Amino acid sequence: MKFETKVIHAGIHSDPSTGAVMTPIFQTSTYEQKAPGKHKGYEYARTQNPTREVLQNNLAALENGKFGICFSSGLAAMDAIIKLLKQGDEVVSVNDLYGGSYRLLTKVYEQFGIESRFISMAKPNEIGAQLNKHTKLVWIETPTNPMLNLVDIKQVVKKVKEVNSRIIVCVDNTFASPYLQNPLDLGADLVLHSATKYINGHSDVILGAVITSKPKLAEKLYFIQNATGAIPGPQDCFLTIRGIKTLHIRVERACKNAKKIARFLLTHPKVNKVYYPGFKDHPGHKIAKAQMRDFGAMVSFDLKSESFADAKKVLSNTKIFTLAESLGGVESLIGHPPSMTHGSIPKEDRLKVGMTDTLMRLSVGIENVDDLIQDLERALTKL
Ligand SMILES: *Cc1c(COP(=O)(O)O)cnc(C)c1O
Repeated sequence: MKFETKVIHAGIHSDPSTGAVMTPIFQTSTYEQKAPGKHKGYEYARTQNPTREVLQNNLAALENGKFGICFSSGLAAMDAIIKLLKQGDEVVSVNDLYGGSYRLLTKVYEQFGIESRFISMAKPNEIGAQLNKHTKLVWIETPTNPMLNLVDIKQVVKKVKEVNSRIIVCVDNTFASPYLQNPLDLGADLVLHSATKYINGHSDVILGAVITSKPKLAEKLYFIQNATGAIPGPQDCFLTIRGIKTLHIRVERACKNAKKIARFLLTHPKVNKVYYPGFKDHPGHKIAKAQMRDFGAMVSFDLKSESFADAKKVLSNTKIFTLAESLGGVESLIGHPPSMTHGSIPKEDRLKVGMTDTLMRLSVGIENVDDLIQDLERALTKL
């Protein structure tokens, strides 16, 4: 099946008890047993739930994997992955990863004796030297937030596996979505999604997933899912299954809109720099072209003015772009990473990576692109 068919049919089946075409919400905590141990494969809903099963199988297919394991949030999914490690093990991660992922690694797992190091993965050839006998997990995120840096997944996996084939490589694929990028095909062992973003796509669910083709890793993750219990509820699984059915058309349209908006910003007299992997002079353009189906729908930009007050004017004067955290929904959002998601990073560290006081991030939605451009134009003329 091609992607567009998989989103609608892979792992989806009509309900055997009634013939219902759409996956029912199995809102139950337990299942009847005819005699002790005599049941239909379902005992208790932390362990098995038919709605969740359908979502897991569907997600596995979208990432060209064999197993999907769903969690109550993207961070709960990441938490389950880190629980594959033990005291004394080490994680090597990209240095500009999602703030919540950074917090989990540093503020939670360091106190359990799992250390993390954060490095640039811009030059895959230099990664081998960064690994040691304690390294058990390499964590990649691409494109990154909010600077939209790219990591060459295939090359990084190759270099890591040359050092030690048993090091697990996981890619946080949230920003690209499975429609644009499939890390398992590029050699990664695990893919993580905050399904809260593009996968559900309607900004009404928090949910996470891990996908893999490795039976041993899957078995351990299913064990952790049941043993630690951070499962999503059946209603959220249902909503996510429903959201996925339009994933391809949503992301396709959002990418198209983002391309036009990036070009508009590039020529705007008040705008300084536009970060968008679709531009030929973006440092990750070639990588994006090789490993993604399109360049994504995230665009960051800053102003020629260096004052936060000017950024505030833009941020509070858009009418269609809503000022909010998160991304990947049908509606367009605008955010200010230096004061919102990245507020805890010292200013000099922010500036080193180009995150100036006026840096703004757009999650471009699927509205009419002329309306979106006009909205930004109007807000920029308030300067
Ligand atoms: C949002 C996000 C997460 C965390 O997911 P939640 O569903 O909010 O727990 C992880 N990684 C990236 C890249 C994200 O954008």
